Amino acid sequence: MIRRRITVLGATGSVGASTLDLMAQAEATGTGAFEVEALTGGANIAKLAEQAKRWRPKLAVTADPARLDELRDALSGTDVAVAAGDAAIVEAATRPVDWIMASIVGAAGLKSAWAAAGTGATLALANKESLVCCGPALIERVKRAGGRLIPVDSEHSAIFQVFPAEAPERVAKLILTASGGPFRNTPREQMVAITPEQAVAHPNWSMGAKISVDSATMANKGLEMIEAAYLFDMPQDRIDVVVHPESIIHSLVEYVDGSTLAQMGPPDMRTPIACALAWPDRIAWLAPKLDLAQLGRLTFEAPDLTRFPALDLARQALKAGGATPAVFNAANEVAAFAFLDRKLAFLNIAAVVAETLERATKAGMAFGSGDACGAALSVDAETRRMAESVIAGLANAA
Ligand code: NAD
Ligand code: MG
Repeated sequence: MIRRRITVLGATGSVGASTLDLMAQAEATGTGAFEVEALTGGANIAKLAEQAKRWRPKLAVTADPARLDELRDALSGTDVAVAAGDAAIVEAATRPVDWIMASIVGAAGLKSAWAAAGTGATLALANKESLVCCGPALIERVKRAGGRLIPVDSEHSAIFQVFPAEAPERVAKLILTASGGPFRNTPREQMVAITPEQAVAHPNWSMGAKISVDSATMANKGLEMIEAAYLFDMPQDRIDVVVHPESIIHSLVEYVDGSTLAQMGPPDMRTPIACALAWPDRIAWLAPKLDLAQLGRLTFEAPDLTRFPALDLARQALKAGGATPAVFNAANEVAAFAFLDRKLAFLNIAAVVAETLERATKAGMAFGSGDACGAALSVDAETRRMAESVIAGLANAA
């Protein structure tokens, strides 16, 4: 039986809601018992209130101060305290718990992930953008506080499960699998007209809008390559990406003796979340199981870097090091949301990232001194301005 006092940051999102769903299933099967300290969400007050009524956290926080009254009304008559805004989310993240899920999307999740990393709790990190922005410092902060960082991203959870942490010199390379996204076989001419609706309809995974767009451009695999480099202290030339459209093998570790270990499972985020929740134990829940005979075959192919240039841009950013991965992340985030807002064509997402990286490099963008989180947020803000101006330039040229 797993007993945990828990906070979920970004509870109303895809990963956050899956976390609570998994916890409910573990309770139903008698394998878990959970107390919830805090839940945070964004604009979806109805969902946050429903979750708070079910889990009775001490605190429920919305990111949006204009919606605080709505949240207060929805939770009136309960003993759940309410709060709103970024500072309240950071306060929620610093409350003492055993386990904290960081599943806010984008660089908006960095401050609270950073705060959680300093508490000594086990940090289940779904928010890959915070690792990409300041991974080494974040990892160091968790260690120094006596906590533990457990990756939630399915690929990194896979590697984490088969990686020999006690003897990393036994590893030759990491192999990240990628589904290839919804446009794996779409000819480039047809990619010009891709709509947000088409881009968020992922063939295997049900996810939030931003990561779905990232999967469609393969920027997601680029972010994950950087994430893997930091988490497992691996240089970029020892991280390969292979497209595996069935999303059954979630990633692999090749050992120096030629043996390669893979982790497999149906594409359901609740399995890596369950792994992070119970680690080093295992928790039973009503998990979907693999039926290999029914699957029949698993296939693999090399990624097409011409149609999906974001993957190589991420590799170049990782090679450049310093603040460049944070620049890649911010430029990609601005471009992905501009695409979702119909202000940018699909193929221009990577073009905006490439141009922003070039401008940032020319401008000598680097981390300032002081707190690593603050330095990363400055680079993030400056890059956002650059990326917005690149997008405005494209709109004017059109
Ligand atoms: P989502 O869009 O479904 O949910 C995001 C959550 O963050 C919501 O609770 C939202 O209210 C909150 N949020 C958004 N903007 C915020 C802000 N400015 N301040 C505070 N809170 C804010 O996203 P998701 O798909 O659940 O992804 C969350 C994170 O997990 C991302 O970093 C993503 O890359 C990573 N991840 C997701 C999946 C998946 O299957 N969805 C898989 C691997 C990794
Ligand atoms: Mg992933």
